[in-house]
Amino acid sequence: MLRFGTEEQRQKILPGITRGEVGFGIGMSEPNSGSDLASVRTKATKVDGGYLINGSKIWTSGAHIANYLVALFRTSSSADDRHEGLTQFIVDMKNTDGIDVRPIHNMTGDHDFNQVFFEDAFIPDSMRIGKEGDGWMQVTTELAFERSGPERYLSSFPLVKEMLREAGQDPSERQAIGLGRMVARASTFREMSLSVSGMLEAGKNPDLEAAVMKELGVGWEQKIPGMAHDLFGTSPRLGGASDYETTQAYITQANVSFSLRGGTREIVRGIIARGLGMR
Ligand SMILES: Cc1cc2nc3c(=O)[nH]c(=O)nc-3n(C[C@H](O)[C@H](O)[C@H](O)COP(=O)(O)OP(=O)(O)OC[C@H]3O[C@@H](n4cnc5c(N)ncnc54)[C@H](O)[C@@H]3O)c2cc1C
Repeated sequence: MLRFGTEEQRQKILPGITRGEVGFGIGMSEPNSGSDLASVRTKATKVDGGYLINGSKIWTSGAHIANYLVALFRTSSSADDRHEGLTQFIVDMKNTDGIDVRPIHNMTGDHDFNQVFFEDAFIPDSMRIGKEGDGWMQVTTELAFERSGPERYLSSFPLVKEMLREAGQDPSERQAIGLGRMVARASTFREMSLSVSGMLEAGKNPDLEAAVMKELGVGWEQKIPGMAHDLFGTSPRLGGASDYETTQAYITQANVSFSLRGGTREIVRGIIARGLGMR
């Protein structure tokens, strides 16, 4: 919104976000469009004063609690418009008729993501982000944010904190070395994440840098439950006796999904290969 939105959108929405009162979901993926995002089919048809939305989004994290979605819809469907036919919109989830949010429970049993159905949902012109047809260019910038943000290396961090607590003031030498390395790694990822944010802030499109951040950050956070096992000899147990055991069990189950969201490992590695001139 800061980069591509209108002043009216910024004034209306950004203060609520900074106050922590307004939350967004991301409406990119569809039942038949994940990695191949340019194939999205949910249609925005131009009508007087706005657009009518028909179709469905899936895996939409937080759609059931979000005030708004930032969503990618198809505004033109001629054969050569695969990328040029896409446009981004802000969808007011609380005040729009024709939207049905249905929960999908993940393998930990939590309700995080949803399938969102649109049936003649009206979005006013004032909620279009950027020009019609600029959606693809904008969404790739947005993905660089998503791939390099703190959630790309901090999702397993609660388990690192539990390990630090478990080790207490008198860790074994092996635990001290292992935990020290983990904290050093997290600190390096923080610098990398801030570096990509700086590039975005400067108006660059750091696809390659964000993909490197995601690949390394996610690879690391997926290894943390195994490191916990190595350093403390514990195995994940649901309903464990301590916060440490419960956190280890939860992260062990949840972390398989970390390399999917925001673009799968294969897609991210493909971007890195292209950036290095290998494809
Ligand atoms: C926890 C979680 C939260 C999510 N939240 C959101 C959200 O809020 N909003 C949203 O829009 N989406 C969200 N997603 C969806 C996510 O972006 C997609 O799952 C992801 O992009 C992959 O798409 P897909 O599931 O359709 O798999 P597919 O694209 O069908 O891929 C299936 C497999 O094929 C591989 N593959 C596909 N194409 C290629 C290729 N060209 N080369 C090599 N391998 C390939 C993939 O790597 C994958 O292993 C979320 C997903 C998860 C797991």
